[in-house]
Amino acid sequence: MAYRQYRFNPQTFTYEVIAAPFKIRFYRVLRKILIGFILASIVNLLFSYFFYTPKMYRIARDNRELVFQYNLLQDKIAAGTRKLSEIKHRDNNVYRSLFAADTLNVPGLYDPYPDSHYARLDGDPYARLMTDAWRGIDGMARLLYLESLSLDDMQLLARDKEAMALAIPAIWPLDRNKLRGNIGRFGMRLHPILKRYIGHEGIDLGSTTGVPVYATGNGIVTTDRAVAGYGKQVLLDHGFGYKTRYAHLSKVLVAPGQQVKRGEIIGEVGSTGRSTGPHLHYEVIYRGRHVDPMNYFRRDMSEEEFTRIIESAKATTYEAD
Ligand SMILES: [Zn+2]
Repeated sequence: MAYRQYRFNPQTFTYEVIAAPFKIRFYRVLRKILIGFILASIVNLLFSYFFYTPKMYRIARDNRELVFQYNLLQDKIAAGTRKLSEIKHRDNNVYRSLFAADTLNVPGLYDPYPDSHYARLDGDPYARLMTDAWRGIDGMARLLYLESLSLDDMQLLARDKEAMALAIPAIWPLDRNKLRGNIGRFGMRLHPILKRYIGHEGIDLGSTTGVPVYATGNGIVTTDRAVAGYGKQVLLDHGFGYKTRYAHLSKVLVAPGQQVKRGEIIGEVGSTGRSTGPHLHYEVIYRGRHVDPMNYFRRDMSEEEFTRIIESAKATTYEAD
């Protein structure tokens, strides 16, 4: 589109080309380059819209490879999780039971993270693949954490095995010949007054006022937040995660801070607090959780005797709370 300007020269009677100023020439060149560039871009855009460039081929291939690797990873995570679950099972059923330790339970450990935890991966075309992998890895990390805690326990227990054998609540808290009436069992039971099911955190051993109450394992007399209705009570800390409580006593014969040995008399049966008759309310607390005290009498009795006692335990209560 170059155009030329002419000027008439009266001396030579000819038309002469006027050379355009440099600035104008420069702009013309620039314009040509620009137009060329825009055209090339449009062609490139159209081309890349219909055809893959070699670079895109490479990226697509890498993506397929990545998806493949992610799927392999998922399989590996699943296999690892299975293996860890087996270890956990063995730990609970062999090693922990060797030391009479309850199943280790960390509250909330198995609650999966909420979806929002993985929200940063949303919007990615491969989000599900990545989220699943992360979930799997998080699940494995929890199991590993639990097992490492358990191993710490085992290490401690193995070291202090003797002290532990003496500390764990293992005998009846009162002479079994002095039992009277039913044994009120641990767990859910129908409340006699409220007429609804509530949890019973210990067992009730019916007896007579004045019957000696024994410490069921070596420990230290301790206290906790007073629970209304327990009346006169003793709480023992045995270490190793164990505590025992003896409630509704008529007499307390020990003081907080005092060391007691298994079988030592710590009080006498009574009916103080919210109680409907003389009985001992006995609790075993392991790692802050109430467990069935009956399970700790097993080593103190023959199997038949133990079964008979368990079956005789009723959903009765000596407590009005
Ligand atoms: Zn009770």
